[in-house]
Amino acid sequence: MNHPKEPPADVVARLRAVFRTGCTKPLSWRTEQLQRLRSLLTENGSELAAALHADLSKSEQEAMSTEVDFVVREIDHSLEHLADWLRPEAAPVPNWLTGAQARTQYDPLGVVLVIAPWNYPVQLLLAPVAGALAAGNVVVAKPSELAPATSEALARLLPQYLDTDAVAVVEGGVPETTALLAQRFDHIFYTGNGSVGRVVMRAAAEHLTPVTLELGGKSPAFVDAGADLAVVAERLVAGKFLNAGQTCVAPDYVLTDPATARALEPLLAAVLEARFGEEPATSPVYGRIVNERHFDRLVALLDSGRTVVGGGHDRARRYVAPTVLADVAPDSPVMQEEIFGPILPIIEVAGLDEAIAFVNDRDRPLALYAFSPSEETRRRLSAETSSGGLGLGLPLAHLAVSDLPFGGVGESGMGSYHGRYSIETFSHRKAVLEVPVG
Ligand code: NAD
Repeated sequence: MNHPKEPPADVVARLRAVFRTGCTKPLSWRTEQLQRLRSLLTENGSELAAALHADLSKSEQEAMSTEVDFVVREIDHSLEHLADWLRPEAAPVPNWLTGAQARTQYDPLGVVLVIAPWNYPVQLLLAPVAGALAAGNVVVAKPSELAPATSEALARLLPQYLDTDAVAVVEGGVPETTALLAQRFDHIFYTGNGSVGRVVMRAAAEHLTPVTLELGGKSPAFVDAGADLAVVAERLVAGKFLNAGQTCVAPDYVLTDPATARALEPLLAAVLEARFGEEPATSPVYGRIVNERHFDRLVALLDSGRTVVGGGHDRARRYVAPTVLADVAPDSPVMQEEIFGPILPIIEVAGLDEAIAFVNDRDRPLALYAFSPSEETRRRLSAETSSGGLGLGLPLAHLAVSDLPFGGVGESGMGSYHGRYSIETFSHRKAVLEVPVG
């Protein structure tokens, strides 16, 4: 059934009633929903890619690899392992309970709200939705209004594929999300910025609803003297300028010593030219800034240092050239907030000790990256810093490993998902003790 313009309270009440029938609990229902979600993606890849192009000028190849196929892989991984993940785990019992059996059992939570952002509007809506369904929940999915073509496509396609008694899509912006947040959910999964994260958590507190907050922040990339800088430049550019820098785990800035900085500058410029051509504005694989507000914010950051490459911009096309800035002071504007755009500042530090102190003096990032040939350096970074994830040698890729938890810590968020961690997030782990009677 489709329920256009159904009030949020009615949506939640309707889904809760369905959840209480227990129909979403059997493994067969869960796997069927995952298979249908998979079909949605494989049968409508081109349409979703077109929507992503309309919203963010993503190339088809990028749209498929980072959004559509990404979720397909996540679903396939779940389908393969779900039965194992859900299996109750036996626990040993103390001596005085000899003869009893103890186990943990994964119970679905109930009605889950998923609120997605605009930057990967397919992946960041559907990967959590897949996790919530795999865990046996009913779901309200709220796409981002800032990616309107994708929001419209998902709102149309999801009811064609999924069980509409158990999954509802609510489109809209702040008023609609505020109305949703007034309802009682059993879990809220929010991806976006920390200010709205606080709004979500305050609303959730009213109902004692647990939250997962997938937030952002400034993810540093430490480049050690002695690293192969040609490889580093290649990987930094690939991670930073994907989706025109609008990636939550993009390397936000480079931390390195002065000599390595000088050596890295021309290499970054060369890789950028090889990837996007002399005139990136005409490159079919270079994206655009999502809207004018973000464009204006980014342009104001361009004066934060010496321009190594880039710096150009065009408001009419929301184009900001891939830009590298050197001689950037830690108190410059570009270092005061998450950049979330195609600007890569290089910050100079004396060496590893100063780099670790620099990271630890700031909010805990969603990701920390390091390129170092030294095992001791990598060990120290791992032991002496805290971040949502740690990528040694390759930015972004950790989030594509389904067996790793993806999430932040401190200001970069709380909770995690992907693979079996989605089951942990969207289930209650119930303690069961059975003692023989009579
Ligand atoms: P956004 O503006 O699309 O907002 C996210 C969602 O919050 C949207 O659905 C929007 O409707 C809703 N929202 C906005 N204002 C609201 C309000 N006042 N009350 C209730 N709901 C509201 O996305 P964004 O926040 O600009 O996304 C960018 C941020 O998200 C960056 O900080 C980025 O690092 C972070 N991010 C994190 C991840 C992750 O997985 N950790 C992924 C992508 C983006």
